Amino acid sequence: MERQVRGIPASPGIVVGPVHLLRWEVPDVPHRIVADADVPEELARLRNAIERAKERLRQVRDRVEASAGAEEAAIFDVQLSILEDVVLIAEVEQLIHQNLAAEKAFDIVMLERRQAFARHHAPMIRERVGDLTDVHIRLLGILLGLPDHDPVDVRKGAGAVLVTHDLTPSLTVQLDREAIAAIATDAGTRTSHVAILARSLGLPAVVGLRHATAELTGQERVILDGSTGLLAINPTDEEVERYRARARREAETEAELHRLAGLEPVTADGVRIIIRANVDLPEEAEHAATSGAEGVGLMRTEFLVIGRASMPDEDEQYRAYRRVLEAFGDSPVVIRTYDIGGDKLPIGGYPTEANPFLGWRAIRMCLDEPEVFSTQLRALLRAAVHGDVRILLPLIVTVDEVRGARAMIDGAAADLRARGVPHRANVPLGAMVETPAAAVAADTLAEDVSFFSIGTNDLVQYTLAVDRGNANLAARFTPLHPAVLRLIRRVVDVGEERGVEVAVCGEMASQPLMAYALLGLGVRQLSVGPRAVSHIKRIVRGMSLAQAHDAAERALRVATASEAEAILLESLRRALHDAPYLLEGLTESV
Ligand code: PEP
Ligand code: MG
Repeated sequence: MERQVRGIPASPGIVVGPVHLLRWEVPDVPHRIVADADVPEELARLRNAIERAKERLRQVRDRVEASAGAEEAAIFDVQLSILEDVVLIAEVEQLIHQNLAAEKAFDIVMLERRQAFARHHAPMIRERVGDLTDVHIRLLGILLGLPDHDPVDVRKGAGAVLVTHDLTPSLTVQLDREAIAAIATDAGTRTSHVAILARSLGLPAVVGLRHATAELTGQERVILDGSTGLLAINPTDEEVERYRARARREAETEAELHRLAGLEPVTADGVRIIIRANVDLPEEAEHAATSGAEGVGLMRTEFLVIGRASMPDEDEQYRAYRRVLEAFGDSPVVIRTYDIGGDKLPIGGYPTEANPFLGWRAIRMCLDEPEVFSTQLRALLRAAVHGDVRILLPLIVTVDEVRGARAMIDGAAADLRARGVPHRANVPLGAMVETPAAAVAADTLAEDVSFFSIGTNDLVQYTLAVDRGNANLAARFTPLHPAVLRLIRRVVDVGEERGVEVAVCGEMASQPLMAYALLGLGVRQLSVGPRAVSHIKRIVRGMSLAQAHDAAERALRVATASEAEAILLESLRRALHDAPYLLEGLTESV
């Protein structure tokens, strides 16, 4: 083997395949002056490049339309229209007439245009920055003769490993699953949305590799191991065979776990736990329903929006929610309203902010954009006719937000009533507890909600001030920090006192050791990725809640996350003593 690079395991599975290196960044453009006599040639070069870029965009649009549908493909029409903007092109031509080379002239005009759009007061204009950037990259690539790194243009059946600096959710949803078999990124952590989305798409992924794009040329063959976070570059045939054998063993374990799906999650000392599934895309619903989950504990709806040029309308959303409800029969399905913002942005960046995680996201955006929010609420109330829908509000920090949302739900019900559309108005409403504010002041929310769902990905990020997507900080993202454990305990206590159900739907719940800690802290409902349902069931059935409680009590009193981990690990190991196979991967993600 030439060499190995290690990153963060983000989505399990082993893939051996060719690298598809995606450098989708604005390249450096040298300052080049042309002689007067060469100006006509530069103008022709610009026009040619524009024609080639348009041709390419049409191809890509058709391809995305065939694989993902017309709505996803519409962004490429927006990009085509940028290349047909006569004012923009006239500005570039003017700079060429002033003796600038075509690429420099185009670069200057696009930079100015992007800055102006990013600062614009209208969100609709700001949304277009991402399209401008894509066009900027594409045309410069042609003018500078760079390799064509089109993100969505990989041959079907290639089984390629996509290696890129960072993958936005919008690119991820455009990926052709028949061409890309795995993802590797320089940036990201286990809880960044790329990782979450990769897991829900079942695409093996390693993130946080830091320098993979710099180290690779795109000509290599690699082994990507999403369970251990390894990328092996140009492996020997024996190494490939070794990994293939491991992949077969993993598949056998999966099959064995699948047999567990139908068993009840009851602890060895007889306490019944509820395990639900997280569903990120409606297409996942049927598969998730076979995982053994008792309903959906978190359906993220923002992935209906991300990667699209326009918001889905009421009917489209209604169909998506109904699909999930029908897959789960009478079981509860908790659907979270849009959590757009942070690192989950629709096409165009919407809007550009200095601190997106502290910015205009989730419930804040929904309350400020009543049209967007009401459309979603109407679709949810209509879908509620088909099953046990529960509405969950993200990023709550104050009860005012819950009350604002409640008023909008009432308004949505009134609209539907006036239109004579079948719906159900009395849908339970819950709050995500994913800020220290919501956890500490959970009592101030309790009156107004039917349930709490603790989002540990954000709760850890905001409590420890550690960006969940920053690979350089991954070791500092420690969910077992005493501050986090105490906040979770606080929510459980308030839930018990006030009769409000408490679930955990962040990634902590999907990791065996952390799930053990959560159950020890008093949580009785976990919502985990569909693949993790049987894994966590197996842990639940092997453990004693009394011991978990004792370990969690001790973990709450120590000073550091590593001490807490040691206590919990020792306790869980002891609990599982008669089933050594359970001991594998206790601290790994499932
Ligand atoms: C969380 O923050 O833990 C959560 C479940 O929400 P998301 O990961 O979508 O931010
Ligand atoms: Mg969150």
